[in-house]
Amino acid sequence: MSERSKAERPKFVTPKGRPPARRKPAAPGADLFTGVRPPSGPKTAYYDPGCTQCPRLAEFLTETHHAHPDYFARPVPSFGAAAPKILIVGLAPGMHGANRTGRPFTGDYAGVLLYETLHELGLATASESVSADDGLELRNVRITNAVKCVPPENKPLPDEIRQCNAYLKSELVELKSVRVVFALGRIAHDGVLTAEGLKRSRFAFAHGAEHALDDKRVLVDSYHCSRYNTSTRVLTPEMFKKVMARACEIAGL
Ligand code: SF4
Repeated sequence: MSERSKAERPKFVTPKGRPPARRKPAAPGADLFTGVRPPSGPKTAYYDPGCTQCPRLAEFLTETHHAHPDYFARPVPSFGAAAPKILIVGLAPGMHGANRTGRPFTGDYAGVLLYETLHELGLATASESVSADDGLELRNVRITNAVKCVPPENKPLPDEIRQCNAYLKSELVELKSVRVVFALGRIAHDGVLTAEGLKRSRFAFAHGAEHALDDKRVLVDSYHCSRYNTSTRVLTPEMFKKVMARACEIAGL
């Protein structure tokens, strides 16, 4: 999802005549709308799929669920290798992309350059990500978001970014195989630093910047691969491929 694009912002309309959406929070670990706990499997979620800790976002998901019953409209889980060398961190699900399909950067323009580049570098089995069941697999890479629920107008509030940071922190702690954290944009960059308990003032965001998080991990920054950034050529495919290739080099891939 773009941090800057106005063109991408969806026009969300709450169904007319519908009373304000209200519901009880799901039990911990249970689905947001069905209340059903998913069957236990490999621990690759690192978050509560029924999370409603951000009231504004939970309300927005409920409204989205009613307006678009075929949309995923839940906190979007991360996607990719269970023991990745590179963890890519985006901002938040796009309304008609990840929020619709249930997979980060899938189903809208935001993922076009990302998956093309991953495929070119041998990190993805296909060059596009269409849906959560399209058979695409990532190798040595996992993709997550700093905020797991779609925010109105693509803009999470600072409190929401802070609230969801606990999940990012958990993922970073649990994924001990990660050697490179690849931040897509400044908000992702700041979220990684917060999750790692590091001062932002010591690590300035810049495209291509590399920051040692500890003696094993490096944070690599990139401009976000949004439609706005790619169409204005703030970020070109060559720039993106270069910084992703550098991340692979650092990760030993
Ligand atoms: S954004 Fe994160 S913390 Fe907030 S409700 Fe969604 S999953 Fe929970």
